[in-house]
Order: sequence, then structure tokens, then C-alpha cells
Amino acid sequence: MSVLPILTLGDPRLRLRGQPVESFNKFLHGLVDDLIDTMRHAPGVGLAAPQLGEALNVAVVEVEDRLFELVNPRIVREDGENRDLEGCLSIPGYVAYVTRKEKVWVVAQNRVGRKFKVAGSGFLGRAFQHELDHLQGKLYVDYLASPDELIPVGRGGMDARRTGRRTRRSRSGGFDPERARRHPAAEPARAIFFGSGPSQSRSSMRWSPRRS
Ligand code: ZN
Repeated sequence: MSVLPILTLGDPRLRLRGQPVESFNKFLHGLVDDLIDTMRHAPGVGLAAPQLGEALNVAVVEVEDRLFELVNPRIVREDGENRDLEGCLSIPGYVAYVTRKEKVWVVAQNRVGRKFKVAGSGFLGRAFQHELDHLQGKLYVDYLASPDELIPVGRGGMDARRTGRRTRRSRSGGFDPERARRHPAAEPARAIFFGSGPSQSRSSMRWSPRRS
């Protein structure tokens, strides 16, 4: 069990597809524990194995004290649409609006191989979709038309878990992106998956939209 460095945008390992897990062995258990420790340390509400440099279909999500170990997860059903701010521990310093499904149903295995199905809507559903994207080598910036859609957020004071509750409460409330630009440290509390690491300047960010 260790807190490991999280790969950041530009590292080609973030673009590798996770391979199916076939052995539910000690190595897997260590990886799941490392994902949990690193996610909580960041702090964040989700982390996928490729973010630690392991191209395996393994991710963890923790929202409102509900921890999900997702081995070989896949979305089996989805419903509705939801547009909200999203961030990523691998892209520190930025958030952006991303349209996701409002609700998804995920089938996965836990660390000992037992199958389960879980439904997630709103914030939890977004977390599932974000982490499962990582297992396909996909990042939320791939949904953006231009880097200009990225909203810089100040470092410090960010706590993705506190954020999650806030997001849920204020889901019906409007969020003004202009306000976020004027007060970068104020509203990004609604952003998710955001780390407290050093911000990157936009120009230093390697922008590499994936051609699918
Ligand atoms: Zn991410």
C-alpha cells in the first residue's frame, strides 16, 4: 500500500488501453490498494490504473464514503444527459464543462473476482464515466473543441470530496463560467477529481487531442 506519483497529461502511458484482468492475485490487490491510497492522498474521488502507469482494467471511485473497486468494469446501460464541470488528477490546474450521461449502470468485478452491478447518477455517474474513459486511454480534454475551453483554477483549497457534496446540493443551481474566470479559486470547488498539485500554465501544457 503506497501513495504513488500520478502521471500527467503528455505521458503516453495515459493513452494505453487497460488490458483485461484475469488473475485476481496479490499483484492486483496491491494495485487496488495503491489506487485507493493515492486517490485519497491527492485527494480525489477516482483514479484509474493507467494513471499509475499500469495498463490494466482497474479503477477505484469513492464518492460520499462509498468506495468502489472496479475491475474489468463496463457500462451496460445509460440514460439522460448532464453537463457539468470536470477535472482530472492527471491534468492539474484546470477544469472544463463536459457533457456526460446523467446515469450509468456499471458491471464490474471486485478484487477477488466477484461480479457486481452498480448504478450511478449525477456526480457518481460522472465519476464512473470519467474513470472508465481512462481505461480506454481517453481523457476529458478529448471532448473539448479547443484548449480555450479549459478553465484555470487556483491551487490550494481544493478538496474533491467536499466538492462532491457541493455539486450534489447545487446541481439545480446555475454555474457561471465567467465568474469562474474572474474568481478562479471560488467556484472550482464544484470541480471533481482535482488534485492539489502544482498548476501548469496553459502554454506549457502539451495539447494532444486524440483522433479517434
Ligand atoms: Zn482523470
